[in-house]
Amino acid sequence: MLRLNTQGMPLNTLLRTVLQQIEQILPQWRGTILLRDSCGHLQLAAGPPLPGTSLRHLAGLTLCQTVNGGDMPAQLARSAPYRKLAARFEPDTGWLVPLAGSAGAVHGVLAIRQRTPSAPVPQAISPLENSAHLLALLLENHAIHHQLEHRSQWYRAILQNTADGLSVIDMHGRFLEASDSLCRMLGYRQDELRRMYLWQVMPGSTPQSIRQRLAITGEDGETFESVNRTKHGRLLEVEIHTRRLILDSRPVVWSSTHDISQRKALQRILEQQATIDTLTGLFNRPTLLARLEMQLQLARMQHAPLSVLLLDLDHFKQVNDRYGHHAGDLVLAALGDTLEEVLRESDVAGRVGGEEFCLLLPGQGLHEALDLAERIIDDISELRIQSGHHILAITSSIGVACLQAGDDCRTLLARTSRALHAAKAAGRHRIVVLGADPP
Ligand code: GH3
Ligand code: MG
Ligand code: MG
Repeated sequence: MLRLNTQGMPLNTLLRTVLQQIEQILPQWRGTILLRDSCGHLQLAAGPPLPGTSLRHLAGLTLCQTVNGGDMPAQLARSAPYRKLAARFEPDTGWLVPLAGSAGAVHGVLAIRQRTPSAPVPQAISPLENSAHLLALLLENHAIHHQLEHRSQWYRAILQNTADGLSVIDMHGRFLEASDSLCRMLGYRQDELRRMYLWQVMPGSTPQSIRQRLAITGEDGETFESVNRTKHGRLLEVEIHTRRLILDSRPVVWSSTHDISQRKALQRILEQQATIDTLTGLFNRPTLLARLEMQLQLARMQHAPLSVLLLDLDHFKQVNDRYGHHAGDLVLAALGDTLEEVLRESDVAGRVGGEEFCLLLPGQGLHEALDLAERIIDDISELRIQSGHHILAITSSIGVACLQAGDDCRTLLARTSRALHAAKAAGRHRIVVLGADPP
């Protein structure tokens, strides 16, 4: 009976089955079960209505007292709450057995009567007592089952509707439980994920590294960023909260996974926008100046050369004036591409003004800097940029300076700038190198 109850058999069917079993043991007797409702009133739950009484008569009867063991019919007769009900019973034809629960609460009453009137038989007492115990247990079990089912519906709703992926992992990294949201996030079915280990969804991890990480997960929890690989090989950037728990007397790790791919992508775009000049794809002025500072320190520490080139387009204003601002933009974008093609990986290029570019050449002395400047000046003069029906050509001037003792960013840049002005003053489309700063 308890098993059927736990397996979800409806209560009414169960109660009817108990009555049938009573009638098998006591063939001359018929049973009715009355249960108290939420207001404490008795309501017919199984079996035929009681003769000589009706639910209407019973509606006002409130059960509040239990009868403990002993000579049941006699005790029942003395028990105040049942006396009222018993008064409606023919004393020789029927008994009332209270369904007393574990905490003294009475859940209802089992009413038993004979088909043909006769005195109560002592051998019927024990089966009736047992049946009453069983019924009380069933009712309590049913109530607990119902309560659990109700709570678990709530928990399921919370669990399955959360946007974050929730899981419980054992100390070897195996998924013991996973929410639908985690399955959706990683592209696995529940049954697939439950057979898997954490290292299978965390690229770069190993069974050992996962075990070590889980072993140091504390009860206060921790939060970290990581990468998860979906079933289809897509990499997700995730933020993970973990916490060690004890479930079923064993340590496990609870984990909440939040997909932060979109946030990270946006962050990268913003970071890029803050460092990159969108027209040319080169670094912007603040970033280039920061890089110069860094390269200067490095060159000092390593006693390595550092050359700086400052490049300005010749008569660029005329390009804008003749062909329009858009044509000028096309030239600037083409120039960005040309510089990126020419530079080595370690070189740094930035747009530091409207049509002024600065190049940092770490590890390069004057000789190499001049070679590169010549190549750049030639490549730019060979550029042909189409704007509408027009083909545009342009030349540039470059000032070159190399790091010298006592230089800081300001003096090094100032010397490069003077070299550029000298190149402009000397007729443009040329390179000028300036030596040490004048005292
Ligand atoms: P030179 O350098 O040879 O002395 O002559 P220039 O005509 O290049 O002179 P200057 O450096 O004074 O002019 C720079 C011009 O660059 C002014 C402006 O119209 C143009 N310019 C600056 N930024 C942009 C830009 O983002 N797009 C376009 N199309 N033009 C720009
Ligand atoms: Mg110019
Ligand atoms: Mg200029």
